[in-house]
Amino acid sequence: MLGQIKEKISYLALLETVDSGKPKDEAVADMDDVAACFEFYAGLAEALDGKQHAPISLPMEEFKTYVLKEPIGVVGLITPWNYPLLMATWKVAPALAAGCTAVLKPSELASLTCLELGAICEEVGLPSGVLNIITGLGPDAGAPIASHPHVDKIAFTGSTATGKTIMTAAAQMVKPVSLELGGKSPLVIFDDVADIDKAVEWAMFGCFFNSGQVCSATSRLLLHEKIAERFLDRLVEWAKNIKISDPLEEGCRLGSVISKGQYEKIKKFISTARSEGATILHGGDRPKHLGKGFFIEPTIITDVSTSMQIWREEVFGPVICVKVFKTESEAVELANDTHYGLAGGVISDDLERCERIAKVIHSGIVWINCSQPTLVQAPWGGNKRSGFGRELGEWGLENYLSVKQVTRYC
Ligand code: NAD
Repeated sequence: MLGQIKEKISYLALLETVDSGKPKDEAVADMDDVAACFEFYAGLAEALDGKQHAPISLPMEEFKTYVLKEPIGVVGLITPWNYPLLMATWKVAPALAAGCTAVLKPSELASLTCLELGAICEEVGLPSGVLNIITGLGPDAGAPIASHPHVDKIAFTGSTATGKTIMTAAAQMVKPVSLELGGKSPLVIFDDVADIDKAVEWAMFGCFFNSGQVCSATSRLLLHEKIAERFLDRLVEWAKNIKISDPLEEGCRLGSVISKGQYEKIKKFISTARSEGATILHGGDRPKHLGKGFFIEPTIITDVSTSMQIWREEVFGPVICVKVFKTESEAVELANDTHYGLAGGVISDDLERCERIAKVIHSGIVWINCSQPTLVQAPWGGNKRSGFGRELGEWGLENYLSVKQVTRYC
């Protein structure tokens, strides 16, 4: 299967770009990550046999106890549109590696690559019924999976609002769920940074990559007062020069957002920020050279207060809001001033300070001197209203395993 995926990377990337509007180069990188994820979990599946019958050390001799790790059963996998095939793969690969069968419901806004994955599975002879793919709207095709008595677990990635609905449905049958939800992640930048350009690059990448349609986007930028002006000048310069175009065009860095609905939602966030008194330092509109399509300029918003919608709610678009701080403790307080807890970042040349802050940021992921690296070996997931459970790494496999204790009286 891995061979087939690798062979089809260009085709899958093209499908993903056409379906979602993301730049072709980004889609190719996503497909490389898809292949890497399948490869990683194939390795963990092989290692799983060696983890069976692990003895538990007991203080008495008359009992012998060991542990079996078994597939949880039929799993329902419900996924979003921002990384259509990659988000599905984060669930399908470990679920199959654990020995589960799965029902996958990709987003109605971008299902093509998931359907192509189904075709690949058929081609390589995955027994029929092991991976089932259902398309359709959430309430029609997703809700019945969440409430179905024969689905033993739900793994969901999407908005916090839908996550709550799914959790409520699953609760009726005490069905386990893992939820990867929204975010409003901070990136804190201190005045001791020698390489300001590199920091600006991370800030750009952290919020404008995939047009900001990234759950972990570092969309709240916290700048130390001593560098704020210089930093913002450079950030605006970057934003002015970024190539926004047809996502199939060579060198495109920002494609269109996913849909008319998302475009309008993002524009509404920007106009509300303006009416609440924030300043649109750069962007806020469709780029002038693009007469049509759901394109939005990288948008930088300043003069933001913590009560504003733009500070509190996930935009899921190329929009960054900026606040200035004076002290480390103020920066930490602002970073944690959110209901979400997916990710956070800190950029400083003082590594001790970075480690100190990493401990007190309330999120499942902290990046030091970078933003957004996603490693298949490391756990991914959030706290607070960003959800619970972890994907990727060995934690991703555990999501689909049930732990059984076997005790024998000797
Ligand atoms: P969404 O919640 O609208 O939809 C996600 C999926 O749920 C879709 O397949 C949809 O059809 C389905 N769905 C909708 N209503 C449903 C219902 N009542 N019952 C069952 N299924 C239903 O989210 P979206 O707009 O597709 O994705 C964007 C959101 O996903 C953002 O909030 C983003 O932060 C989040 N996200 C989180 C992560 C993460 O790792 N934490 C990763 C990617 C995206």
